[in-house]
Amino acid sequence: MSWQDDAARDLMGLGGRLALLTRGEGSWVWDADGNRYLDFLGGIAVNCLGHAHPVFVDAVSRQAATLAHVSNYFASPGQLELAARLKRLAGTGEDGRVFLANSGAEANEMAIKLARLHGGPTGRSTILVVEGAFHGRTMGTLSLTPKPAYRDPFEPVLPGIRTVQRTVESLEAAFDETVSALIVEPIQGEAGVVELPAGFLARARELATERDALLILDEVQTGSGRTGEWFAFQRAGIVPDAVTLAKSIGAGFPLGALITFGAASELFYPGTHNSTFGGNPLASAVANAVLGHIEDERLLENVTARGAQLRDAVAALPLVAGTRGAGLLIGIQLTEPLAADVRAAAHERGLIVNAPTDDVIRIAPAYTIGDDEVTEFLTLLGAALAAVAETAPTPTENVKCAVLSDRMESK
Ligand SMILES: *Cc1c(COP(=O)(O)O)cnc(C)c1O
Repeated sequence: MSWQDDAARDLMGLGGRLALLTRGEGSWVWDADGNRYLDFLGGIAVNCLGHAHPVFVDAVSRQAATLAHVSNYFASPGQLELAARLKRLAGTGEDGRVFLANSGAEANEMAIKLARLHGGPTGRSTILVVEGAFHGRTMGTLSLTPKPAYRDPFEPVLPGIRTVQRTVESLEAAFDETVSALIVEPIQGEAGVVELPAGFLARARELATERDALLILDEVQTGSGRTGEWFAFQRAGIVPDAVTLAKSIGAGFPLGALITFGAASELFYPGTHNSTFGGNPLASAVANAVLGHIEDERLLENVTARGAQLRDAVAALPLVAGTRGAGLLIGIQLTEPLAADVRAAAHERGLIVNAPTDDVIRIAPAYTIGDDEVTEFLTLLGAALAAVAETAPTPTENVKCAVLSDRMESK
């Protein structure tokens, strides 16, 4: 019996059989057969310090040996430290508030409840979301995710969700007096690292303020320093009413957060929300150690610099039409819908990336990557792209081949 047989027999039939990974160190992981992979997906924008980082290992070990979990009848020093840290990094000032949860979907569930508490008293229950959005897989967050393939099997979902196109005009047209909140990702990771048009968030801020609605940002993927700023909204120069986090915040330890700003901080009151595991001492200690290390080592400077270096270099590879994203959240737009082939060719060569759409490759490597990782990545991805470009016949084959060989010769 192979491990694939075990997985097929024992695991829910939802995929996840690319390899049996057994060990990691820095930006590399190993499978059960001893094959080594360069991990440029980072557990989908999670392993911001890479694998088995001493800071992570030490924080888990020390806190596990001290106090791992208490009920939410009690506070813990690490929880207080983390809440204060997140407020400082988000720039909420005094009146910000933090709730610690266990995942992105769970943080976004709470964001939906925040919208209800805000709109409820005046009967406003419309929540605006943006085409291409991904906010999670629970019933509530699925309701915010317009993609039919994710949603259709589970209808009926929450009512009152309205999808706007990714344009300022569409946003303006949809933002009527029934709206209690707009929930939006500053960069849509699952859609293929798709950026909002210039001015979208600034206009969203104005409209939300005018209409007394909440602007809630889903920074589950873009937050915790991924874009080179602590939060992507800081790049847009706006202040939201609430922001959600997860993925990189615990560098691999499951943790999520909702941070509120200003008057939105007064909406929840005792009895309206809680979580058994959320913000327990173990999770809090890990997040404090991770975020503290990123600050102490000024790793966000590396995120910005390596991101720019990667985007420049990748743009010159075969099959690449361009790149999107910020910092170390990068979408590589292919000239052909061959992302699944490229992902597989990369895997064969020992490189982990993913294909969120049929023509986009996404990378979200550790904030700690250096020259070695960048060089190896470009070699492996370049080889994978060249192999796919060579073998895959496409309708534009002749034109493409001419363009590609020109490009390859010029390097
Ligand atoms: C991953 C993701 C989620 C869901 O987070 P989970 O931890 O998987 O529940 C929600 N929103 C965005 C933007 C994400 O990238």
